[in-house]
Amino acid sequence: MFTSSTERFDFSNMDDYPGEGKRPPPRTDGSVCHISIAAGFILTLLSLAIAVGVGIIVNFAGNNKNVTCSCLCEPSPQTTNAPGYIPSACKALALEGNQEICGLCPDSTVTSTHSTTSAAPTDTTEVTKPTEPPIITDDIRLPDNMKPYHYDITIRPELYNDKPETFTFSGRVDIFMNCIKATKNITVHSGSQVITQTPSVRLVNNTGGRADPGVIGTARDDARQFLIIMLDTYLTIGEQYSLTLHFTANLTDNLIGLYLSSYYSEEANATKYLAVTQLQHTYARFTFPCFDEPALKAKFAITLEREPQIFTLSNMPLLRSDNLTDGYIADVYDTTVIMPTYLVAFAFCDFLNVTNKTSNNVEFSVFSRPEYINQTTFALEEGIKMLDAFENYFNISYTLPKLDNIALPDFYYGAMENWGLVTYREAYLLYEPGMTTTSYLIFIAEIIAHELAHMWFGNIVSPVWWDDIWLNEGFATFLSYLGVEMVLPEWKMMDLITTDVIQRVMDVDSYESTVPIYRMAYTPRQIGDLFDSITYSKGASVIRMMWFFLGEETFRRGLEGYLKEQMFGNVAHDDLWVALQKQAQLDGRTGFDVKTVMDTWIKQKNFPVVNVTRHGNQLKLTQQRFLLGATNTTDSEGYSWEIPFTYTTQQKLDFNQTTSDITWIRKDSSETTIDSVTPDQGWVIGNIRQYGYYRVNYDTENWQAIVRQLMNDHTKIHVINRGVLISDSWALAKAGLISMEIAWDMLIYLRNETEYMPWDNADRELDYIDMMLTGRAAYGDFERFVVTQIEGRSLNVPIYDDRPVQQRSLSRLIFSLACKHHVPECIERSLEMFDAWRTNGTLIPPDIKGTVMCTAVREGGETEWDYLYSRYLNGPVSETGLALAALGCSSRPWIINRYLEYSLQSDKIRKQDTRNAILSVLRNPVAFYMGWKFLMMNWRQMTLDNAVDGNHLNDIIRVATQGMYTDFELSQVMHLKNNIHPQEVELSGFDRAIDRIMVNMEWEEQNYPFVEEWLKTNVGHTA
Ligand SMILES: [Zn+2]
Repeated sequence: MFTSSTERFDFSNMDDYPGEGKRPPPRTDGSVCHISIAAGFILTLLSLAIAVGVGIIVNFAGNNKNVTCSCLCEPSPQTTNAPGYIPSACKALALEGNQEICGLCPDSTVTSTHSTTSAAPTDTTEVTKPTEPPIITDDIRLPDNMKPYHYDITIRPELYNDKPETFTFSGRVDIFMNCIKATKNITVHSGSQVITQTPSVRLVNNTGGRADPGVIGTARDDARQFLIIMLDTYLTIGEQYSLTLHFTANLTDNLIGLYLSSYYSEEANATKYLAVTQLQHTYARFTFPCFDEPALKAKFAITLEREPQIFTLSNMPLLRSDNLTDGYIADVYDTTVIMPTYLVAFAFCDFLNVTNKTSNNVEFSVFSRPEYINQTTFALEEGIKMLDAFENYFNISYTLPKLDNIALPDFYYGAMENWGLVTYREAYLLYEPGMTTTSYLIFIAEIIAHELAHMWFGNIVSPVWWDDIWLNEGFATFLSYLGVEMVLPEWKMMDLITTDVIQRVMDVDSYESTVPIYRMAYTPRQIGDLFDSITYSKGASVIRMMWFFLGEETFRRGLEGYLKEQMFGNVAHDDLWVALQKQAQLDGRTGFDVKTVMDTWIKQKNFPVVNVTRHGNQLKLTQQRFLLGATNTTDSEGYSWEIPFTYTTQQKLDFNQTTSDITWIRKDSSETTIDSVTPDQGWVIGNIRQYGYYRVNYDTENWQAIVRQLMNDHTKIHVINRGVLISDSWALAKAGLISMEIAWDMLIYLRNETEYMPWDNADRELDYIDMMLTGRAAYGDFERFVVTQIEGRSLNVPIYDDRPVQQRSLSRLIFSLACKHHVPECIERSLEMFDAWRTNGTLIPPDIKGTVMCTAVREGGETEWDYLYSRYLNGPVSETGLALAALGCSSRPWIINRYLEYSLQSDKIRKQDTRNAILSVLRNPVAFYMGWKFLMMNWRQMTLDNAVDGNHLNDIIRVATQGMYTDFELSQVMHLKNNIHPQEVELSGFDRAIDRIMVNMEWEEQNYPFVEEWLKTNVGHTA
């Protein structure tokens, strides 16, 4: 990295770049500076060059860091202070953690690196050379000399012919800034594909005829995506300046920045093009030059130029449309509130919309391509209710006069919370009764609620830096369940969050290679990595735990106070702890300190298991870190948490508990005792309704008592805890903490279970066993076991199903298990339904449509596959996701290979769908190795071409490796990681995959003989 960046730097042009102090790096505990070794080295070289004649270089060590101060100023009275003055003042400032050498000389710098050597703390003029090859890691922050407060942006895309490869966009931006520190250059973000023309800089409020600063040159730093504008004079602290840049770029279908999307219009018998934005996380710079960091908030006045046949949308309401002399129309939008660059949005399209008002008079609209406009009703009606519900919940009105929601044919992410103009994938916003599955229906509601929650969490209050992005995403995830619960209480979303979110992320969070919620991120790739299930789902899980231990109303009032206090500002997590603690004190909630508790959950990876043992009339509670593959860990010390523990007994059967029922297990106490339990109370169950993010283990006797209870009358145990008991027992057995027998015994009662959530948890465990047994002798018995568990269940599912959503979800799950495990009735019915659909258009019940498609493709040939592929291309939006997943079900090698090849051709499979197409092949046990070979052969190109983004690559690695358990497979993954993957592209997924394979290897070695035996005994017994 250092090599390429130094090649790019023209030192003769550098003047004082990047030596004018950095914006403060992301916060860390216990350290002050995070400027990279690379920067240090560059500065050192730079300093050497300049120090020959003038200036002073000081290098010293202390407080575990080496600090290099370079005063680069020209000879002046400031630098002729008494010898030693600047070095000592510099050292004092630097050791206090102050990066600014203030008034000593205007362009001096401090850089520091963590020292691992024990260099003597002496002042010296000698420059030390770096002892290891410098690499660029964290040195990506903008200098902190200029702060933007307003942007005028004009954008004009050219997308009006039928040759998309010729499409471009151009524009002009005027950035108004305050000068915070004297500087001779201005550094902004600008992606390399954005070509800028010579900029100009003006003094705002220029009175007295002062000359504007002159631009003497520009330089690019592509590693940091910087454009540096060099000036002939210093800008003055306290003055305001404007920077004007004209720019142009290609308009491509790369799904980031301002990008091209398209759809085929049957009515027009033509392809229609649209241009839309996706600027989070760091893609605003690919659209217009800007200060692209979340704390650099400003107001934006946007003008969009278009041809008359289309229209535009942006964050704010349209002020006016001006006719331009060249026939274009300029849509001038109202100025936004103060917000970060990543929330800017605009769209150029020919869509239709439906509109209504919320009770607070906000104009709420849903936009889609014309043919889907009748599928927008659910989003409009429920979206309005949700916005109302959130306004009531936070007791803060939505900020803007309007909120548009737009369904896009091409969209990389699920949805994006641009303030006033939320963007979605079509399948995540459009609902068609009789066609859309229940899973998608729930997901649509959830995702709308998620984005609307962001209007408060993320938009009104944003994180200082990306390391706290969980404050956006964890809250939006938690609030999405709460939001749907407020509007559609019969869906029981606050129950469903346990299986949907908490259990799922606990699986991810059980490995050594996982990461804490709060973690550093510097480069755009690392920032992208933050948008993972730990941030979203673990974030939501620990927030739900906080919601429980604070009490719902204290939590709500605390959030209200926090949002009001921090409105339009930037925050770090400590600001939230302070606000919630304040509210807890006001409400008389005691027994915990919010920061002490929550820091243990957000700053440590993994989570605890609470061991519950009975001693006479006492319950003894201890905690330990829960880890799969614990035998391989080298990092086993010091993990402990502040745990809000709850429990009930066979006699009490109390599953409705509140904050006053909590027993706190402290991070520094070795054992916690509860006295009130009598020996004859039967079983004990901990973590009521899984309010806590932890697992619970019991002695064997207690586990057996629970198994007996489930067999005798499972309804005595709350449905959430039934699901949790299945997940806990399986996780504990996989970790070797209880016998595998208990985990299997826990599944036997399921043939009487009529609720969805325990089945969903069991299904995940069955999936794991399925992968581990695929191709093994025990698989036949396993399949018979599963079939026995669902025997006698109805496979009838109506097209219009008005049963509760969770009953519908259970029917989907049972039907899918039946076909997957070759129940003849399921296969026959699927083939019949598929055939009637293909030949006569007979509707298939939506909840089983995915399974019907997969079964027909698996059992059929080219005809079935080709028909389904045509539905992917041209069918209704509710079918595209299902078709994409089912196309990978084929058992014909050439069909699978053709599908894999299509997956990388954007005219065959939309770019946004590449991941899911590949995943569908990897999930098919018959096709798995074809998928794996394809990855090995294409991986390098996929990565280098950015055909698949980092998060999607991580998903692909995860699914590809989740069932691997042999040395041979491990060596292949190592080969992919070390020899094929381009080393310059950081990717976190490999380490997790290797960790998982090691755990699988251990599981296979220790458990396969037992599982084979258990299945033989039990299937033989019940068949
Ligand atoms: Zn979000």
